[in-house]
Amino acid sequence: MTNVFLGIGGNLGDRRAIMREAVDRLRDVLDEIRVSSLYESEAWGVTDQPAFLNAVVRGTTERQPLELLDRIQAIEDAMGRVRTLRWGPRVIDIDILLYGQDIVDHERLQIPHPYLSQRSFVLRPLADLAAGLTLPDGSLVGELLTTVPQDGLRRVEDQRWAE
Ligand code: AMP
Repeated sequence: MTNVFLGIGGNLGDRRAIMREAVDRLRDVLDEIRVSSLYESEAWGVTDQPAFLNAVVRGTTERQPLELLDRIQAIEDAMGRVRTLRWGPRVIDIDILLYGQDIVDHERLQIPHPYLSQRSFVLRPLADLAAGLTLPDGSLVGELLTTVPQDGLRRVEDQRWAE
């Protein structure tokens, strides 16, 4: 059984309903799910697009990392994500942030997620669930959070949003 953390986000359509649907679908993939507060963040990269909702989901799994990736990509596809512009609008984006303390460097999968340490919309919800967590490189989630700018990020609901 491995502890995993997934980042979820979306900026199209009924964002909150779509985030809730993603969590519900993830209940078939992960056990013992816990969900962070819900955050809103200004779009990153390509900025003339709607703001994102973001959250982090923690759970446990017996699946191997690539099998987990297949399952989350199946959810993204089922929910109508159109893979077009990088950093462009998307119905739902699900990333594997952490898979236990494993480091994965595969053509389809990098874990820890490459942007994990740089983005407040990932670190802040991750810190809700695991501020004391140490990453495979020895850095502490709560400390990393103090190193990234948090403007453009706001907490919109506590963790009950996904109940
Ligand atoms: P994105 O458009 O940012 O969601 O990127 C999707 C692509 O990133 C997919 O082709 C995945 O194979 C790849 N990828 C690499 N590492 C990860 C990860 N940790 N979680 C999810 N997708 C990943």
